Amino acid sequence: MPILSPAEPPVEGLPPTALQGATATLLLTLAARAGSESVIAASAFSDPEARRIAAELPYDLSAGTGDEAFVRGVVLRAALIDRMAAEFFAAHPLGIGITLGAGLCTRRTPSGMALRGYVRNDAMVGRIKGLDVVWHRALRRGYGWIFPCAGGVFNIGVGITHSRADAPDVNLRELFATFTRLYPPARELMEGGEALGPLKGAPLRCSLEGAKWSRPGLLVAGEAAGSTYLFTGEGIGKALETGMLAAQAIAEGRDQRQGDAQVRARYEAALHALKPRFDAYEQANRINNHPWLADLLIWRARHSESVRNRLSGVIEETHTPRNLVTAGGLLRTLLPSA
Ligand SMILES: Cc1cc2nc3c(=O)[nH]c(=O)nc-3n(C[C@H](O)[C@H](O)[C@H](O)COP(=O)(O)OP(=O)(O)OC[C@H]3O[C@@H](n4cnc5c(N)ncnc54)[C@H](O)[C@@H]3O)c2cc1C
Repeated sequence: MPILSPAEPPVEGLPPTALQGATATLLLTLAARAGSESVIAASAFSDPEARRIAAELPYDLSAGTGDEAFVRGVVLRAALIDRMAAEFFAAHPLGIGITLGAGLCTRRTPSGMALRGYVRNDAMVGRIKGLDVVWHRALRRGYGWIFPCAGGVFNIGVGITHSRADAPDVNLRELFATFTRLYPPARELMEGGEALGPLKGAPLRCSLEGAKWSRPGLLVAGEAAGSTYLFTGEGIGKALETGMLAAQAIAEGRDQRQGDAQVRARYEAALHALKPRFDAYEQANRINNHPWLADLLIWRARHSESVRNRLSGVIEETHTPRNLVTAGGLLRTLLPSA
Protein backbone atom coordinates (compact mmCIF):
# COMPACT_ATOMS: atom_id res chain seq x y z
CA MET A 1 0.00 0.00 0.00
CA PRO A 2 1.48 3.38 -0.90
CA ILE A 3 2.32 5.63 2.04
CA LEU A 4 1.06 9.14 1.48
CA SER A 5 3.68 11.60 2.60
CA PRO A 6 3.25 15.21 3.72
CA ALA A 7 3.56 17.73 0.91
CA GLU A 8 6.47 20.17 1.08
CA PRO A 9 6.00 22.80 2.33
CA PRO A 10 2.98 21.87 4.51
CA VAL A 11 -0.11 24.00 4.20
CA GLU A 12 -0.13 26.60 6.94
CA GLY A 13 -2.28 25.65 9.92
CA LEU A 14 -2.49 21.94 9.07
CA PRO A 15 -0.23 19.30 10.61
CA PRO A 16 2.20 17.73 8.13
CA THR A 17 1.72 14.28 9.66
CA ALA A 18 2.59 11.34 7.43
CA LEU A 19 -0.32 8.94 6.99
CA GLN A 20 0.52 5.28 7.33
CA GLY A 21 -1.21 1.94 7.45
CA ALA A 22 -4.96 2.18 8.02
CA THR A 23 -5.02 5.99 8.06
CA ALA A 24 -3.31 6.13 4.64
CA THR A 25 -6.13 4.11 3.11
CA LEU A 26 -8.55 6.90 3.96
CA LEU A 27 -7.08 9.09 1.22
CA LEU A 28 -6.35 6.44 -1.40
CA THR A 29 -9.78 6.63 -3.03
CA LEU A 30 -9.57 10.40 -3.18
CA ALA A 31 -6.03 10.18 -4.62
CA ALA A 32 -7.19 7.72 -7.29
CA ARG A 33 -10.15 9.89 -8.30
CA ALA A 34 -8.11 13.09 -8.32
CA GLY A 35 -5.30 11.52 -10.35
CA SER A 36 -7.42 9.23 -12.56
CA GLU A 37 -6.51 11.10 -15.74
CA SER A 38 -2.98 9.67 -15.61
CA VAL A 39 -4.56 6.23 -16.10
CA ILE A 40 -7.96 6.77 -17.74
CA ALA A 41 -8.88 9.33 -20.42
CA ALA A 42 -10.64 12.41 -19.04
CA SER A 43 -13.41 11.82 -21.56
CA ALA A 44 -14.18 8.51 -19.75
CA PHE A 45 -13.92 9.78 -16.17
CA SER A 46 -13.00 13.06 -14.55
CA ASP A 47 -13.58 14.30 -11.00
CA PRO A 48 -12.80 18.03 -10.65
CA GLU A 49 -14.14 18.10 -7.06
CA ALA A 50 -11.69 15.37 -6.00
CA ARG A 51 -8.89 17.36 -7.65
CA ARG A 52 -9.96 20.50 -5.79
CA ILE A 53 -10.00 18.72 -2.39
CA ALA A 54 -6.70 16.94 -3.09
CA ALA A 55 -5.04 20.24 -4.00
CA GLU A 56 -6.04 21.72 -0.64
CA LEU A 57 -4.69 18.85 1.45
CA PRO A 58 -1.22 18.99 2.97
CA TYR A 59 -0.34 15.59 1.50
CA ASP A 60 1.41 14.47 -1.63
CA LEU A 61 -1.17 12.08 -3.08
CA SER A 62 0.78 11.10 -6.19
CA ALA A 63 1.58 7.64 -4.74
CA GLY A 64 -2.15 6.93 -4.77
CA THR A 65 -2.18 6.59 -8.58
CA GLY A 66 0.84 4.25 -8.76
CA ASP A 67 -1.32 1.14 -8.94
CA GLU A 68 -3.27 1.34 -12.23
CA ALA A 69 -5.56 -1.59 -11.40
CA PHE A 70 -6.52 0.12 -8.11
CA VAL A 71 -7.31 3.41 -9.92
CA ARG A 72 -9.43 1.58 -12.50
CA GLY A 73 -11.30 -0.21 -9.69
CA VAL A 74 -12.01 3.07 -7.89
CA VAL A 75 -13.14 4.76 -11.11
CA LEU A 76 -15.42 1.88 -12.10
CA ARG A 77 -17.03 1.88 -8.67
CA ALA A 78 -17.44 5.68 -8.69
CA ALA A 79 -18.98 5.57 -12.19
CA LEU A 80 -21.38 2.81 -11.12
CA ILE A 81 -22.50 4.70 -8.00
CA ASP A 82 -22.84 7.93 -10.04
CA ARG A 83 -25.10 6.07 -12.47
CA MET A 84 -27.20 4.53 -9.69
CA ALA A 85 -27.55 7.93 -8.00
CA ALA A 86 -28.53 9.59 -11.31
CA GLU A 87 -31.18 6.91 -11.93
CA PHE A 88 -32.52 7.28 -8.39
CA PHE A 89 -32.83 11.08 -8.63
CA ALA A 90 -34.40 10.81 -12.08
CA ALA A 91 -37.09 8.57 -10.56
CA HIS A 92 -37.31 10.54 -7.25
CA PRO A 93 -36.63 14.20 -8.05
CA LEU A 94 -37.45 15.21 -4.45
CA GLY A 95 -35.16 12.55 -2.93
CA ILE A 96 -32.30 13.44 -0.63
CA GLY A 97 -28.79 12.07 -0.93
CA ILE A 98 -27.01 11.49 2.38
CA THR A 99 -23.29 10.88 2.58
CA LEU A 100 -22.51 7.99 4.89
CA GLY A 101 -19.04 7.39 6.25
CA ALA A 102 -19.06 10.95 7.53
CA GLY A 103 -15.95 10.84 9.71
CA LEU A 104 -17.86 10.55 12.99
CA CYS A 105 -16.47 7.17 14.02
CA THR A 106 -13.77 7.48 16.66
CA ARG A 107 -13.05 3.82 17.36
CA ARG A 108 -10.34 1.66 15.80
CA THR A 109 -11.76 -1.71 16.77
CA PRO A 110 -15.30 -2.99 17.34
CA SER A 111 -16.56 -3.85 20.84
CA GLY A 112 -17.06 -7.45 19.88
CA MET A 113 -17.87 -9.94 17.16
CA ALA A 114 -20.72 -12.36 16.73
CA LEU A 115 -21.43 -15.27 14.40
CA ARG A 116 -24.75 -16.96 13.76
CA GLY A 117 -26.53 -19.44 11.55
CA TYR A 118 -30.07 -20.64 10.97
CA VAL A 119 -30.80 -24.34 11.38
CA ARG A 120 -34.03 -26.25 10.73
CA ASN A 121 -34.70 -29.13 13.09
CA ASP A 122 -38.33 -30.10 13.67
CA ALA A 123 -37.35 -32.52 16.44
CA MET A 124 -36.21 -29.60 18.60
CA VAL A 125 -39.51 -27.70 18.38
CA GLY A 126 -40.91 -27.46 21.88
CA ARG A 127 -37.57 -28.42 23.42
CA ILE A 128 -35.97 -25.01 22.98
CA LYS A 129 -38.88 -22.73 23.77
CA GLY A 130 -37.27 -19.38 24.47
CA LEU A 131 -33.94 -17.60 24.28
CA ASP A 132 -31.12 -19.76 25.68
CA VAL A 133 -27.96 -17.85 26.53
CA VAL A 134 -25.07 -20.00 27.65
CA TRP A 135 -22.01 -18.91 29.58
CA HIS A 136 -19.34 -21.51 30.16
CA ARG A 137 -15.69 -21.64 31.11
CA ALA A 138 -14.88 -23.10 27.68
CA LEU A 139 -16.54 -20.09 25.99
CA ARG A 140 -14.35 -17.67 27.94
CA ARG A 141 -14.76 -14.05 26.80
CA GLY A 142 -17.99 -14.94 25.10
CA TYR A 143 -21.26 -16.79 25.19
CA GLY A 144 -23.51 -18.92 23.02
CA TRP A 145 -27.20 -18.58 22.26
CA ILE A 146 -30.09 -20.40 20.62
CA PHE A 147 -33.56 -19.10 20.05
CA PRO A 148 -36.50 -20.51 18.13
CA CYS A 149 -37.89 -18.77 15.06
CA ALA A 150 -40.98 -19.96 13.17
CA GLY A 151 -41.36 -23.25 11.28
CA GLY A 152 -38.83 -25.40 13.14
CA VAL A 153 -36.01 -22.95 12.42
CA PHE A 154 -33.56 -21.89 15.14
CA ASN A 155 -31.06 -19.05 15.33
CA ILE A 156 -27.85 -20.32 16.91
CA GLY A 157 -24.68 -18.33 17.44
CA VAL A 158 -21.77 -17.23 19.56
CA GLY A 159 -20.37 -13.82 20.40
CA ILE A 160 -17.44 -12.25 22.16
CA THR A 161 -17.58 -8.84 23.71
CA HIS A 162 -14.83 -6.78 25.22
CA SER A 163 -14.17 -3.33 26.53
CA ARG A 164 -12.28 -0.87 24.39
CA ALA A 165 -8.73 -1.97 23.53
CA ASP A 166 -9.06 -5.26 25.38
CA ALA A 167 -9.76 -7.32 22.23
CA PRO A 168 -9.19 -11.05 22.80
CA ASP A 169 -7.72 -13.24 20.09
CA VAL A 170 -10.66 -15.63 19.70
CA ASN A 171 -11.64 -17.57 16.60
CA LEU A 172 -15.44 -17.42 16.47
CA ARG A 173 -15.79 -20.55 14.35
CA GLU A 174 -13.81 -22.49 16.94
CA LEU A 175 -15.97 -20.95 19.68
CA PHE A 176 -19.07 -22.04 17.74
CA ALA A 177 -17.67 -25.58 17.45
CA THR A 178 -16.98 -25.62 21.20
CA PHE A 179 -20.49 -24.35 21.98
CA THR A 180 -22.18 -26.93 19.79
CA ARG A 181 -20.05 -29.67 21.31
CA LEU A 182 -20.47 -28.87 24.97
CA TYR A 183 -24.08 -27.66 25.20
CA PRO A 184 -26.34 -30.70 24.58
CA PRO A 185 -29.32 -28.82 23.01
CA ALA A 186 -26.90 -27.05 20.64
CA ARG A 187 -25.26 -30.36 19.77
CA GLU A 188 -28.58 -32.05 19.09
CA LEU A 189 -29.83 -29.10 17.09
CA MET A 190 -26.78 -29.21 14.82
CA GLU A 191 -26.49 -33.00 14.56
CA GLY A 192 -30.08 -33.59 13.54
CA GLY A 193 -30.63 -30.29 11.78
CA GLU A 194 -30.28 -28.81 8.33
CA ALA A 195 -28.16 -25.63 8.10
CA LEU A 196 -30.00 -22.95 6.13
CA GLY A 197 -27.02 -21.17 4.63
CA PRO A 198 -23.52 -20.56 5.98
CA LEU A 199 -22.58 -19.13 9.36
CA LYS A 200 -22.29 -15.35 9.12
CA GLY A 201 -20.44 -12.97 11.41
CA ALA A 202 -20.21 -9.23 11.92
CA PRO A 203 -18.70 -6.74 14.36
CA LEU A 204 -20.65 -5.32 17.29
CA ARG A 205 -20.33 -1.70 18.40
CA CYS A 206 -21.53 -1.20 21.93
CA SER A 207 -21.99 1.02 24.99
CA LEU A 208 -22.99 4.17 23.08
CA GLU A 209 -19.30 4.79 22.53
CA GLY A 210 -16.92 5.00 19.60
CA ALA A 211 -18.60 7.76 17.60
CA LYS A 212 -19.66 11.34 17.80
CA TRP A 213 -23.44 11.41 18.05
CA SER A 214 -24.00 14.30 15.68
CA ARG A 215 -22.50 17.03 13.60
CA PRO A 216 -24.22 19.92 11.79
CA GLY A 217 -26.93 18.46 9.59
CA LEU A 218 -26.42 14.87 10.75
CA LEU A 219 -27.59 12.69 13.65
CA VAL A 220 -25.92 9.31 14.21
CA ALA A 221 -28.28 6.48 15.20
CA GLY A 222 -28.06 2.71 15.60
CA GLU A 223 -24.86 0.76 15.81
CA ALA A 224 -23.00 3.59 14.14
CA ALA A 225 -23.50 5.31 17.53
CA GLY A 226 -22.58 2.13 19.43
CA SER A 227 -26.18 1.29 20.32
CA THR A 228 -25.71 -2.40 21.19
CA TYR A 229 -25.54 -3.74 24.77
CA LEU A 230 -22.07 -5.03 25.49
CA PHE A 231 -22.92 -7.93 27.82
CA THR A 232 -25.69 -9.49 25.73
CA GLY A 233 -25.01 -8.22 22.19
CA GLU A 234 -28.65 -7.18 21.96
CA GLY A 235 -28.89 -4.38 19.45
CA ILE A 236 -31.92 -4.48 17.17
CA GLY A 237 -34.31 -2.89 19.67
CA LYS A 238 -31.65 -0.43 20.81
CA ALA A 239 -30.85 0.62 17.25
CA LEU A 240 -34.56 1.24 16.67
CA GLU A 241 -34.81 3.19 19.92
CA THR A 242 -32.00 5.56 18.94
CA GLY A 243 -33.55 5.95 15.47
CA MET A 244 -36.87 6.86 17.08
CA LEU A 245 -35.14 9.37 19.36
CA ALA A 246 -33.49 10.95 16.33
CA ALA A 247 -36.83 11.16 14.53
CA GLN A 248 -38.45 12.63 17.64
CA ALA A 249 -35.73 15.28 18.01
CA ILE A 250 -36.17 16.27 14.35
CA ALA A 251 -39.99 16.33 14.53
CA GLU A 252 -40.10 18.28 17.79
CA GLY A 253 -37.42 20.66 16.54
CA ARG A 254 -39.50 21.27 13.42
CA ASP A 255 -42.69 21.83 15.43
CA GLN A 256 -40.93 24.27 17.74
CA ARG A 257 -39.11 25.94 14.84
CA GLN A 258 -35.75 25.08 16.38
CA GLY A 259 -32.48 25.22 14.52
CA ASP A 260 -29.93 22.52 13.83
CA ALA A 261 -27.96 23.11 17.06
CA GLN A 262 -31.05 22.69 19.23
CA VAL A 263 -32.13 19.52 17.43
CA ARG A 264 -28.65 18.07 17.91
CA ALA A 265 -28.64 19.06 21.59
CA ARG A 266 -32.08 17.48 22.10
CA TYR A 267 -30.97 14.22 20.47
CA GLU A 268 -27.66 14.07 22.34
CA ALA A 269 -29.45 14.72 25.64
CA ALA A 270 -31.76 11.78 24.89
CA LEU A 271 -28.76 9.50 24.27
CA HIS A 272 -27.06 10.74 27.44
CA ALA A 273 -30.20 9.72 29.34
CA LEU A 274 -29.84 6.17 27.95
CA LYS A 275 -26.13 5.93 28.69
CA PRO A 276 -26.34 4.66 32.31
CA ARG A 277 -28.23 1.57 31.09
CA PHE A 278 -25.52 0.91 28.52
CA ASP A 279 -22.87 1.40 31.22
CA ALA A 280 -24.61 -1.20 33.40
CA TYR A 281 -24.35 -3.76 30.56
CA GLU A 282 -20.70 -2.79 30.08
CA GLN A 283 -20.09 -3.42 33.77
CA ALA A 284 -21.92 -6.77 33.67
CA ASN A 285 -19.66 -7.79 30.79
CA ARG A 286 -17.08 -8.73 33.42
CA ILE A 287 -18.95 -12.03 33.52
CA ASN A 288 -17.81 -12.74 29.96
CA ASN A 289 -14.22 -11.98 30.96
CA HIS A 290 -14.22 -13.97 34.20
CA PRO A 291 -15.92 -17.35 33.76
CA TRP A 292 -15.57 -18.05 37.49
CA LEU A 293 -18.06 -15.22 38.02
CA ALA A 294 -20.41 -16.93 35.58
CA ASP A 295 -19.84 -20.25 37.38
CA LEU A 296 -20.69 -18.62 40.68
CA LEU A 297 -23.85 -16.99 39.36
CA ILE A 298 -24.96 -20.17 37.58
CA TRP A 299 -24.38 -22.24 40.72
CA ARG A 300 -26.43 -19.74 42.71
CA ALA A 301 -29.14 -19.54 40.04
CA ARG A 302 -29.56 -23.34 40.17
CA HIS A 303 -30.54 -23.00 43.80
CA SER A 304 -32.60 -19.83 43.73
CA GLU A 305 -35.58 -18.93 41.64
CA SER A 306 -35.17 -15.24 42.46
CA VAL A 307 -31.59 -15.26 41.13
CA ARG A 308 -32.81 -17.10 38.00
CA ASN A 309 -35.51 -14.47 37.53
CA ARG A 310 -32.99 -11.70 38.03
CA LEU A 311 -30.63 -13.14 35.41
CA SER A 312 -33.45 -13.72 32.89
CA GLY A 313 -34.61 -10.19 33.63
CA VAL A 314 -31.22 -8.87 32.53
CA ILE A 315 -31.60 -10.61 29.17
CA GLU A 316 -35.24 -9.58 28.83
CA GLU A 317 -34.43 -6.03 29.98
CA THR A 318 -36.89 -6.11 32.84
CA HIS A 319 -33.96 -6.00 35.27
CA THR A 320 -30.88 -3.83 35.07
CA PRO A 321 -27.54 -5.66 35.26
CA ARG A 322 -26.26 -2.78 37.40
CA ASN A 323 -24.35 -4.13 40.40
CA LEU A 324 -24.66 -7.69 39.11
CA VAL A 325 -20.92 -8.12 39.35
CA THR A 326 -19.94 -5.52 41.94
CA ALA A 327 -18.87 -6.85 45.32
CA GLY A 328 -22.11 -5.73 47.00
CA GLY A 329 -24.32 -6.89 44.15
CA LEU A 330 -22.65 -10.29 44.04
CA LEU A 331 -22.97 -10.68 47.76
CA ARG A 332 -26.70 -9.91 47.57
CA THR A 333 -27.08 -12.37 44.69
CA LEU A 334 -25.05 -15.10 46.34
CA LEU A 335 -26.46 -14.96 49.82
CA PRO A 336 -29.73 -16.81 50.26
CA SER A 337 -32.60 -14.35 50.45
CA ALA A 338 -34.34 -14.12 53.76
C1 LIG B 1 -24.20 -12.51 14.43
C2 LIG B 1 -25.02 -11.43 15.07
C3 LIG B 1 -26.18 -11.76 15.70
C4 LIG B 1 -26.96 -10.78 16.30
N1 LIG B 1 -28.11 -11.17 16.92
C5 LIG B 1 -28.87 -10.24 17.48
C6 LIG B 1 -30.10 -10.61 18.10
O1 LIG B 1 -30.47 -11.78 18.13
N2 LIG B 1 -30.85 -9.64 18.68
C7 LIG B 1 -30.46 -8.34 18.66
O2 LIG B 1 -31.18 -7.49 19.20
N3 LIG B 1 -29.30 -7.95 18.08
C8 LIG B 1 -28.51 -8.86 17.49
N4 LIG B 1 -27.33 -8.48 16.90
C9 LIG B 1 -26.98 -7.06 16.87
C10 LIG B 1 -27.80 -6.39 15.75
O3 LIG B 1 -27.60 -7.10 14.54
C11 LIG B 1 -27.35 -4.94 15.55
O4 LIG B 1 -27.30 -4.29 16.79
C12 LIG B 1 -28.31 -4.21 14.64
O5 LIG B 1 -28.37 -4.86 13.38
C13 LIG B 1 -27.90 -2.76 14.45
O6 LIG B 1 -28.80 -2.18 13.54
P1 LIG B 1 -28.37 -0.92 12.67
O7 LIG B 1 -29.53 -0.63 11.76
O8 LIG B 1 -27.90 0.17 13.55
O9 LIG B 1 -27.10 -1.36 11.85
P2 LIG B 1 -26.98 -2.48 10.73
O10 LIG B 1 -27.98 -3.58 10.92
O11 LIG B 1 -25.53 -2.82 10.69
O12 LIG B 1 -27.41 -1.71 9.41
C14 LIG B 1 -26.56 -0.75 8.81
C15 LIG B 1 -26.76 -0.87 7.31
O13 LIG B 1 -26.05 0.22 6.66
C16 LIG B 1 -25.37 -0.29 5.54
N5 LIG B 1 -24.23 0.59 5.26
C17 LIG B 1 -23.08 0.71 5.96
N6 LIG B 1 -22.29 1.64 5.39
C18 LIG B 1 -22.97 2.13 4.33
C19 LIG B 1 -22.66 3.13 3.38
N7 LIG B 1 -21.54 3.83 3.41
N8 LIG B 1 -23.59 3.36 2.43
C20 LIG B 1 -24.78 2.68 2.39
N9 LIG B 1 -25.10 1.72 3.30
C21 LIG B 1 -24.20 1.46 4.25
C22 LIG B 1 -24.95 -1.70 5.95
O14 LIG B 1 -24.71 -2.50 4.82
C23 LIG B 1 -26.17 -2.16 6.75
O15 LIG B 1 -27.14 -2.75 5.91
C24 LIG B 1 -26.54 -9.44 16.28
C25 LIG B 1 -25.35 -9.09 15.65
C26 LIG B 1 -24.60 -10.07 15.05
C27 LIG B 1 -23.31 -9.68 14.37
